[in-house]
Amino acid sequence: MQTTINPHHVLKKHFGYDHFRPLQEEIIAGVLQQKDTLVLMPTGGGKSVCFQIPALLLPHLTLVVSPLIALMKDQVDALKSNGIAADFLNSSMDEADQQILFEQLQQGEIKLLYVSPEKLLALLPYFSNHIQISLIAIDEAHCISAWGHDFRPEYTKLKQLKEMWPRVPIIALTATADKITRKDIIQQLALQEPATYIASFDRPNLSLQVRFGVKKKKKLEEIAAFIQARPNESGIIYCLSRKATEEMVSDLHKYGISADFYHAGMNATDRSKVQDDFLRDRTKVICATIAFGMGIDKSNVRFVIHNSLPKNMEGYYQEIGRAGRDGLPSDALLYYSLGDVMMLRSFIEESGQKELNLEKLNRMQQFAETPICRRKILLAYFGETLHHACHNCDVCKEPRELFDGTLLAQKALSAIARTNQQVGVNVLIDILRGSHRKEIIENNYDRIKTFGIGKDRSFSDWQQLLMQMLNIGLVEMAYDDHYTLKITSFGQDVLFKNHRVDLVKPEMRISISPKPKAGVLKHTEQQDQEELLFDYLRASRRVLAEKENVPAYVIFSDATLKDMVSKKPQNLAQLMEVNGMGEYKVKKYGNTLLKELKSWQKVQGVKQPKGNTYQETLALLQEGFSIEDIALTRQLHESTIYSHIAQLYQTKELNDISKYYNESDLVLVRKAREETGETKLLNPIYVHLQETVPHHIIRLCLSVIDREEKDGVE
Ligand code: ADP
Ligand code: ZN
Repeated sequence: MQTTINPHHVLKKHFGYDHFRPLQEEIIAGVLQQKDTLVLMPTGGGKSVCFQIPALLLPHLTLVVSPLIALMKDQVDALKSNGIAADFLNSSMDEADQQILFEQLQQGEIKLLYVSPEKLLALLPYFSNHIQISLIAIDEAHCISAWGHDFRPEYTKLKQLKEMWPRVPIIALTATADKITRKDIIQQLALQEPATYIASFDRPNLSLQVRFGVKKKKKLEEIAAFIQARPNESGIIYCLSRKATEEMVSDLHKYGISADFYHAGMNATDRSKVQDDFLRDRTKVICATIAFGMGIDKSNVRFVIHNSLPKNMEGYYQEIGRAGRDGLPSDALLYYSLGDVMMLRSFIEESGQKELNLEKLNRMQQFAETPICRRKILLAYFGETLHHACHNCDVCKEPRELFDGTLLAQKALSAIARTNQQVGVNVLIDILRGSHRKEIIENNYDRIKTFGIGKDRSFSDWQQLLMQMLNIGLVEMAYDDHYTLKITSFGQDVLFKNHRVDLVKPEMRISISPKPKAGVLKHTEQQDQEELLFDYLRASRRVLAEKENVPAYVIFSDATLKDMVSKKPQNLAQLMEVNGMGEYKVKKYGNTLLKELKSWQKVQGVKQPKGNTYQETLALLQEGFSIEDIALTRQLHESTIYSHIAQLYQTKELNDISKYYNESDLVLVRKAREETGETKLLNPIYVHLQETVPHHIIRLCLSVIDREEKDGVE
C-alpha cells in the first residue's frame, strides 16, 4: 500500500478518478483544515466528493444531513459499491436495525452516516454523548431558506449543531446560488467565517434546443422520433398539468415507447414505484409535472424535454440539470407556444407576487426567443458571463438571421389599430392572411384595409414574428382583456414614425437532431462497433445490478462504460486506468468485465494480445494491491502470486521483495539449501526444515539467493 494517503490517492482508490474537478481540491483542503465551508455547485458538479473524501481522511464520523430519504439509500449504496463504510439513519428504520447501527457507530466502524434532519435533531443527545464527530455536511442546504421553493422547516433547527459541536467544521452544499439563500445558509447554520466556493453553473455537456409553435400532433411525432432514435437511453418529459402527463404517456404508448407518468396527485406507493422503475431502467421515459425530480439522482438521464414553457429560468435550469449528471452529452429540448405563455400568464394573474412572477416569465420568454447563444442568456441570468458562443445550442448551430422587419411590423400594427385593438393573436393572423373563417366574416374584419396583406407568410411565421414583437415591446398582450393585443408607444413610433425594427427571420427548424450526436453525418464503422460494445457492457452491468438489487448506474456510471469502450482494457492494470474504476470495483467486478470484453472481442474476431500473467501481477503490485487482493481479483491462488513475485525478482522487474518474507526464514532456507544441495525443488527443503517454512516462502528465498549468486553478491 502507498504510505502517504492524500485526497488524490483517495479519489483514485475509492472513486477511480485521476483528476479533481474545478474547486474540489481547494474545498477538500479547506475542510481538512477545519474550515467552515459553503459550496455552490450545479447539479452533477461533483459536490459529494467534497465531503466524502475528507470523511475518509478524518479520524471520526462524518454526519451527512440530507432531506431526501429516498435518495439516502442510493447514495449509501453507491458509497458501499466503492468500498466505503457508509450507512443511513432515518425515521423509516425500526428499533432493532437502529440498535445494530448504533453498535457499529460506537465501534467506529462507519465513516459516513446519512441522516435526516428530524432524526439527527431527535438523537442529538445520543450523538453528543457517544460518538465522536469529525465533520458535518449539510446537503441541499438551500432547504434552510424560507425564500426558496424547497423550504424545510426542520432545517432551520440545524443551528443547534454549531452550539453542540462548536469545533467541528460544517460544510454546507447546494445547487441554488442566489445571494439571499447564501446569506440565509451562513446565518442560520452559524457558519464561522466560511470559505465560500461558487463553481460555474455551466453544464457544457447539455445541448440546448428550443422549438416554437409546433402543432400538437407534429410535436408528438417529433418527440417520439427523438426518443426512438435513442433506443437505450432514458429521459424525462415535463408537462404543465397532471392531465397532460397522463395524456403524453398514453400517446407515447401508441408509439410503443415505455413510459410512466408521475405527479403529486398519485399516492406515495405509486409514486415510489414509478420512480424506482425509472431508476432501474425498467421505464424509459417519465412524463411528469415539476413534482418529479428532487429525489432523482440517476446519473444517466440522457434527455429532458419540456412539453411546454417552464414558468421561470430557475425551474428550467433545475429541470434540465437532471440530464447528464455523469458528464456525457445529453439533450435539453424545450417546446413552447403562445398558448403556453397565455396559460402561464393566467396562472400568475391568480397568484401572489404577481409582478415578480410576470417578470420571471418574461425572462423565460426572452430566453426562448433569443437570437444569440442560449447558454449565454442562461448563464447571464445566474450572473455569469460566457465569453464565447457555446456551439452546443440550436442558435449557435443554426445562427439566426436578422432582417429589416419594419414593414412586416407595420402591417401587423396597422391591422391591430384598424380593429381598435380588440383582437388576439390568432384572429390577427387570420386577418393578415385573409382567412374567410366565420369569426372573421361575422366581425366584418374582411372589410378592413389590411385584410390579407400578410398572405405571403405562413401562420407559424406570423406567430413567431408576433412573439418577437411582444418580446421587444412593440405590442402588449392585455391579459385582463381577453388577451387582445395593444400597441405600445414604441409600437406607435414604428407605425407612424417609421422607426426601424430588426427581426429574426422566422423559419421552421425542422431538424431536431433525431440522432444523439448531431453534426456527425455518417457513423464510421468504428463508432458503430463502439456503440454495440457499449450496449453489450450495459447489458452486463444490468445483470450485476439486478443481482445486487441496486440501480445500474450505482455499479458503474455511463461515463465509466464509455471510457471502458474506448480504452478496451485487456488486463486488470489497464482496467484501473478506466475513469471511475476504483480499487474496490476492480477487485469486485474486474474479472467479470475482462471476461465480457474478451468474449465480445472473440465474437467480433478481434485478435487478442496475449496477456502476460507476470506483468499483470507486477502492474497490480505497483498499484498498491496486496498479495491477497491480487489473488482475489485475479482468481488465482496466493501461492501463484508468490511464484510470480519470485519470477519478477529474477527478471529484475522487482528489486526489493524483503517485505514478503522474514529474515530468519531466509537464514533457514539458505542453510537447508546448502545442506541438501537442492536449488530448485521446494519440497526437499520443506521436508528438511520439518515443514516449518511454507512452500511459497521457500520459493521467494530461493529466488533471492539465486539472484545474489548470479549478481555475485554474498
Ligand atoms: P452533485 O452532488 O454536485 O450533483 P455528484 O457529487 O453526484 O454531483 O457528482 C456527479 C457525478 O460526477 C458523479 O457520477 C461523480 O462520481 C462524478 N464525479 C465527481 N467528481 C469527479 C471527478 N473529479 N472526476 C470525474 N467524475 C467525478
Ligand atoms: Zn450557444
